[in-house]
Amino acid sequence: MLQATFAAPCLTTFCRLDELGLEAVGQRLEPDRAVVECRVVEPDPWCRECGSEGVLRDTVTRALAHEPFGHRPTTLLVRVRRYRCAHCGRTWRQDTSKAAPARAKISRGGLGWALGGIVIDHLTVSRVAAGLGVSWHTANSAILAEGRRALIEDPARFEGVTTVGVDEHVWRHTRFGDKYVCESRSGWSGTGWRGWCWLLRAAA
Ligand SMILES: [Zn+2]
Repeated sequence: MLQATFAAPCLTTFCRLDELGLEAVGQRLEPDRAVVECRVVEPDPWCRECGSEGVLRDTVTRALAHEPFGHRPTTLLVRVRRYRCAHCGRTWRQDTSKAAPARAKISRGGLGWALGGIVIDHLTVSRVAAGLGVSWHTANSAILAEGRRALIEDPARFEGVTTVGVDEHVWRHTRFGDKYVCESRSGWSGTGWRGWCWLLRAAA
């Protein structure tokens, strides 16, 4: 019989926050949603301008929709330190780009979940938006942008492909035209959803 080994329960690794450069420091569980309070692991105290060490000014919060656990949307409330350089006066905040792109409302983990949900599980954008706890528009914009970035603009996306078959269907009808998802199952050597060849195209 296979002997499973167990590590101590850990919210940071269970929610895959370590991959985002975050660490869970608190949780608030409600019947219809969960909020995980996080801190940024890397201190990031060095001035971008002159390299001097900054002085901690205060802390701000950044809310990010994360992948849901069960049917409960999970929000990350990230505590972000703001520094001021004692030498040149420049101010900056801790780098959170590992957790989410600048100005994004959805974590990279949430984006990966959303993209996988659309392509692999054939979820609707409405279902994905509900899972993330964000608006349809926010989910749709983020999925299209991430799809383009990760798949269409990735020059290595055809590596290992031996055969490609296309299964295109209308994803959404709009007043301005239809949006299509073209899924191409292929002899891909990649892993996960990146191992799929698929293209997102907005027909204007
Ligand atoms: Zn400075």
